[in-house]
Amino acid sequence: MPRDLILILGGTAEAQAIAARLVAEGRRVLTSLAGRVASPKAPPGEVRVGGFGGPAGLETFLRTARVAALVDATHPFAAQISRNARLACDAAEVPRVQVRRAPWPRHPGDRWIATASVAEAAERLPETGRRAFLTVGVGELAPFRPLTQVWRLVRVVDPPAQPLLDGPHLTLAARGPFAEADELALLRAHAIDVLVTKHAGGAATYGKLAAARKLGIPVLMVERPPAEPGDTCAPDEAAGWVRKVVE
Ligand code: NAP
Repeated sequence: MPRDLILILGGTAEAQAIAARLVAEGRRVLTSLAGRVASPKAPPGEVRVGGFGGPAGLETFLRTARVAALVDATHPFAAQISRNARLACDAAEVPRVQVRRAPWPRHPGDRWIATASVAEAAERLPETGRRAFLTVGVGELAPFRPLTQVWRLVRVVDPPAQPLLDGPHLTLAARGPFAEADELALLRAHAIDVLVTKHAGGAATYGKLAAARKLGIPVLMVERPPAEPGDTCAPDEAAGWVRKVVE
C-alpha cells in the first residue's frame, strides 16, 4: 500500500488553514492534537487526539498509518513535539517541514522587554508593573503563582477547576482571535500596566500588542525557542511544500 496520508501536527490556527487547503486539494489529511483544551475546534479532514509516546511512538505511527509527509504546524513554543517529529521523521524517512509564523513586527512606541524564558519574565514582573495581564498559556503559570504583590489578570482557554494563582488575581476563559479594540478595552477596564506574553507571532493574538503600544504599556516578551534543523516554511507555503514532496 502506498504512503498517502499527510499528517499535520496541529493545535494552531495555521494548522487549521493548512488542513483546509490540503483537503480542498483532495489529499488524505489527518490532524493530530495534543488534547490540552476541552473542546478544540475540529479541523477539516481526520483528527486524532493525544500524545504518540515520544519519538519512538511517533515513528511507529508514521509507519503504520502510511504517512507520506509530516507538516509540523504546532505552536512556536511547542518545542518538545517538534523535536520528536524531527527524530521520528528522520528514523522513518518521512519528509517533514516545520511551519514558522513570522515574528510580530516591532513598531515605534512598542516597549518590549525581551526575556529568555517565562521564568525570567516572572522574575522581572514585580519591578515592571503592579497590574499585569498574563497571556502565557495555562501550563506556564507556575512562576507567577507566588507573585502576590502584583495584581494579575490571567487569560486561559478553559475555565480552571482550581485557582491558578495565589493572591489577588482574576481569571478569564476565552479563545482567540482577539481584536485590538477588545484588547484595548480589557487593558483599560483592569488598569493593566504591564503585559506578559510569549513571542508567538501570528495575527490571532497580535491585538494585545497594538493595544499595549497605544497605552504605552511595557511588554515582557518571552523569546521563541529556535526552529528544529531541517525544512521550514511560512504557513501559506505548506501546501506547496506538500505538492513538492508528495505526488
Ligand atoms: P510540547 O511541550 O512540545 O509537547 C509535549 C508532549 O505533548 C509531546 O511530547 C507529545 O506527547 C504531546 N503533543 C504535543 N503536541 C502534540 C500534537 N499536536 N499531537 C499529539 N501530541 C502532541 O507541546 P505543548 O507546548 O504542551 O503544546 C501542546 C499543543 O498545544 C500543541 O499541539 C501546540 O501546537 C498547542 N499550543 C501550544 C501553545 C504553547 O504555548 N506551547 C500555545 C497554543 C497551542 P508524546 O511525546 O506522548 O507524543
